[in-house]
Amino acid sequence: MMERLRVGILGATGAVGQQFVRLLAGHPWFEITALAASERSAGRSYTEAANWIGSEPIPDEIASMIVQVCDPGLECDFVFSGLDASVAGALEGDFARAGYPVISNARNFRMEPDVPLLIPEVNPGHTALIDQQKWGTGGFIVTNPNCSTVGLVCALKPLADAFGLESVHVSTMQALSGAGYPGVSSLDILGNVVPYIGGEEDKLETEPLKLLGKLTGGVVQPLHTVISAQCNRVAVLDGHLETVSVRLTEPATPEQAVAAFRDYPNPIAAFGLPTAPDPFIKVFEDPRFPQPRRQAGLGGGMTVSVGRVRPCPVQDLRMVVLSHNTIRGAAGGAILNAELLVHQGYLKAK
Ligand code: NAP
Repeated sequence: MMERLRVGILGATGAVGQQFVRLLAGHPWFEITALAASERSAGRSYTEAANWIGSEPIPDEIASMIVQVCDPGLECDFVFSGLDASVAGALEGDFARAGYPVISNARNFRMEPDVPLLIPEVNPGHTALIDQQKWGTGGFIVTNPNCSTVGLVCALKPLADAFGLESVHVSTMQALSGAGYPGVSSLDILGNVVPYIGGEEDKLETEPLKLLGKLTGGVVQPLHTVISAQCNRVAVLDGHLETVSVRLTEPATPEQAVAAFRDYPNPIAAFGLPTAPDPFIKVFEDPRFPQPRRQAGLGGGMTVSVGRVRPCPVQDLRMVVLSHNTIRGAAGGAILNAELLVHQGYLKAK
């Protein structure tokens, strides 16, 4: 068995940081050796510093670890970042400059031309951008997309490859856990829908174009398509549901679209990555599904669910897409990114 790589978590006390702690417990390749957060948390045990919101207890080996400040010098081979975006830009840059690979959830570096925005099943070859990064010391930054982008792109990729994609309309119903802790006030969300999530629609309209783009000549050429996004916060705990309609270059029937999902040649299927779900995409024929409470946890929260694939009278096809926002859309996605980087030889023991 390979020796486990030592992992630090930046923003370990937050909602995403807690998912990292939970998902890395017993991970066969990675072992948490450092936890870091703000000065408010530093110097306290993880149990004292984190307002643990998981239903299972904090793993024993983590509970008494002392939280540190986010300064390079942490004892680890690479870091995961669940940092608040207001500080992620500066701190992730500090770590990359100091020679740490940074596997980030934050938005700050996602659209930088030399930074991979990565979903392993969609664009594993974009990691070649790492070779262009100029931190100078072996450090680099890899990002995963916004939590509502992930499900959408996983569902669009087989359609884009099989039929071409002209335009996309998407409306989201996004879970509360996506807003961090304590997130949206109960008085704002109980018995209500909030039809605005700051900055979200812009991310959903731009990140997919990079993810679905082609890396040629060292540059990602974005996919030439147009996306219209409308984002809503709903009183759901976990799981972002999206209603999507698409215009295709070569029109397809719902049966052909379902066949494209089922036959999609998942590029990482043979790599044996511990967090990779099987199936990558689950298609439901029962029109009541997918639903957040019933299916967000499929494949350990890593499977993307698609249902109600049917004709659209305005575009060509429409469907419902569901993905777990703090697992596939955040910590689980980042862990899968790190596993791919191990497989490709980018992540190693220091
Ligand atoms: P959160 O619950 O508010 O946690 C933020 C974390 O950042 C905490 O650990 C906090 O530490 C730390 N932090 C804040 N200010 C800091 C500072 N000055 N120095 C060092 N650490 C600091 O937020 P979250 O929901 O986990 O989101 C974290 C990141 O992931 C964000 O960039 C978010 O956009 C992204 N993301 C979230 C989701 C999701 O579904 N929630 C999905 C995808 C991406 P303290 O506890 O010490 O304050």
